[in-house]
Amino acid sequence: MKITEIRLGRISVPLRVPFKTALRSVDSVEDVIVEIHTDNGAVGYGEAPPTGVITGDTTGAIIGAIQDHMVKTLVGRDVDDFEDIMIALQGCILKNTSAKAAVDMALWDLYGQLYKIPVYKLMGGARKSIVTDITISVNEPDEMVRDAMNAIQRGYDCLKVKVGKEPEKDIARLSAIRQAVPKDTLIRIDANQGWTPKEAVRILNGMQERGLDIEFVEQPVKAHDFEGLKYVTERSYVPVLADESVFSPEDAMKIMQMGAADLINIKLMKCGGLYNALKIASAAEVYGVECMIGCMLEAKISVNAAVHLACAKKIITKIDLDGPVLCSEDPILGGAVFNEQLITVSDEPGLGIKGFESGRVTYL
Ligand SMILES: [Mg+2]
Repeated sequence: MKITEIRLGRISVPLRVPFKTALRSVDSVEDVIVEIHTDNGAVGYGEAPPTGVITGDTTGAIIGAIQDHMVKTLVGRDVDDFEDIMIALQGCILKNTSAKAAVDMALWDLYGQLYKIPVYKLMGGARKSIVTDITISVNEPDEMVRDAMNAIQRGYDCLKVKVGKEPEKDIARLSAIRQAVPKDTLIRIDANQGWTPKEAVRILNGMQERGLDIEFVEQPVKAHDFEGLKYVTERSYVPVLADESVFSPEDAMKIMQMGAADLINIKLMKCGGLYNALKIASAAEVYGVECMIGCMLEAKISVNAAVHLACAKKIITKIDLDGPVLCSEDPILGGAVFNEQLITVSDEPGLGIKGFESGRVTYL
């Protein structure tokens, strides 16, 4: 199965409600689509969101990295030389993890098709379905309560609440939500680097004292501040998950060696795809550190690849793959079935993506 062409396109999918975090506010998913064509007619699909504020990757940068570096590295090569092309892809340009992730997943899709096996089976095959949380954006407390109750009515029992814009107000936001939702609702929070280490300890222990029962906090401090993260992890009653601090297997190793976080968040767009995500999962297995799998604002192609990883590996115990359910429509054919919080992986060979509704992808 030889690679003949890498086609790029763009897709736009509106969100149900604007997505607001401590770092940004957006109202639609605007992603780059990758199709890797082969000489036997098989097509592998990939996707990357331009999340410049987190990854540094813009639409132009994703397209440029693929056109200028990955096409010449991959076209003409045989998908069966899988380990070699994975190493070549990761080595053909520095950083650019979103572009690498989009191409990496398209290659896994083809490799699974070549051997007629779904990718989650190829990587471990632990389970067929997973349960995701859903994100509640940062807003006024009454609006956040409305969004939380709407999620409960849609069947979610785990909420991921964005906080971190105004430290003093976060406790009021969480109190309002905790009082409104059913008692057994899991609430995890994401500060998206919004606090200083000392603020984080004060706010988190304040939440604990008020009985807000926070499952864990994501990335309380700046991404580069591993010592600050460790400071919070050692002093907070609320467990700490490293997200923006982990962009590579090396970052994950360092955090686990330091004991700087209780949990690690794997995202394909940060680590450059499934090949490196598997290394993080394996390191976490060795350290006994449970992982979450997350996504950016992504449509179904790339989140579907993350679903395969989550269904493959038992060390991934927390699921934050709500990209597709935050969208108001799904123009992508095939792949996992997203039925609100329950996600069921496809048993088709590869990643199971079949293409798009006609006219939804604008090819470059
Ligand atoms: Mg996060």
